[in-house]
Amino acid sequence: MSESRSIRNEEEDYSPAAASRFITDDGELQEDFKKDLETEISRLCIKLEKKADEMSRSDSTVYTGHPGIAFLYMHLYKNVPTFQKFKYLKTALSHVEPFLSNIKLRKPSFVCGEAGVLAVSAVLLNQLNMKEKAEDCVKNLLKFHREVSDIDDKMCDEVLYGRAGYLFSLLYVKTHYDSGAVSSAAIESVIEAIITSGKGLALEEKSDLPLSYKWHNKHYLGAAHGMCGILYMLLQTRRELIEEYLDTLIKPTIDGLMSLRFPSGNYPSSYSNNSDKLVQWCHGATGFVLLLCKAYEVFDEQKYLDAAHDAADCVWDRGLLRKGYGLCHGVAGNGYAFLELFRTTRDTKYLYRAIKFGQFCMDYGQHNCRTPDRPASLFEGLAGTIYYLTDLLNAKRAAFPGFTVS
Ligand SMILES: [Zn+2]
Repeated sequence: MSESRSIRNEEEDYSPAAASRFITDDGELQEDFKKDLETEISRLCIKLEKKADEMSRSDSTVYTGHPGIAFLYMHLYKNVPTFQKFKYLKTALSHVEPFLSNIKLRKPSFVCGEAGVLAVSAVLLNQLNMKEKAEDCVKNLLKFHREVSDIDDKMCDEVLYGRAGYLFSLLYVKTHYDSGAVSSAAIESVIEAIITSGKGLALEEKSDLPLSYKWHNKHYLGAAHGMCGILYMLLQTRRELIEEYLDTLIKPTIDGLMSLRFPSGNYPSSYSNNSDKLVQWCHGATGFVLLLCKAYEVFDEQKYLDAAHDAADCVWDRGLLRKGYGLCHGVAGNGYAFLELFRTTRDTKYLYRAIKFGQFCMDYGQHNCRTPDRPASLFEGLAGTIYYLTDLLNAKRAAFPGFTVS
């Protein structure tokens, strides 16, 4: 069953000897491998430029539109020496500018809404010293706030379209634009709306867990549409803002989700789905590794780290997906499970596994994987693969785009 979704992982698993080909005794990348990675990133970027020309001019999302390409160029500018030239920030700008003049504020999330292009543009324009335009983007972003924090609004809470996605946008702007641009009170009221919404649904459904969330009438559990993503976003806010919810609401909900895990270490995609099928960021183990690592950090209990290790083993076994090399439901996205565990534990085993998934991505197009609908895009296509390879260069700082605040 799972065999058809993934390619059997025949890569040699971690041993100190196997790892020493890529990683030094100090836990850094070997110079040779670093050079290979940089060369591959440049090669794939040439490929990307051609593909990006064919992208829809009307898709304003980070997920599949031009703003996602801008986000990648900003990442390259920050992390890859050959891209540390002003012209690459200008390239990034060319991918967002057409959307800014007449933006319609429809969805408040970072990945699939206009909040994404606004947040990315604010940071980018600021870097380019275009301060006024940057401020306009932040002003527009904050226009969503009233609607998002309105607890009577029937808005969804998940990451791709809902409140948790808006929360990411605010945290991103606070971190990369100006810590004073978004007040703690603004963040607090979004958190409160997410909590109130989850408590309300749990009560209404007489749920066993204190928080419950639905998207399109289904109880999704994964990172993209489900509880895992919402809880992860809450845990990334400043502790004092969530302190009162931690032990009574957030922790018991995470513990309840953990009780649903399959023997493989994987997690169901929704309450109604009991088959152990999907191992990817959007549904299943990968998103859970990120949540569990964060829970370990916040609650300091070994059980979260143990469960993260188990989920990561499942990603290692079944994570080379036939769906391709993308972030949302592809090999690059799955590689972030290892990068997150490496960040949390500094265990070289996970950097090694992340590198092995990276090598798979470096053989882009050679495994008969499916071609995604939007082949250049950040979340489905090549831009996401390049984003991942770039994070391998700086594994200690790696962060899943649009999801991990760093
Ligand atoms: Zn997906």
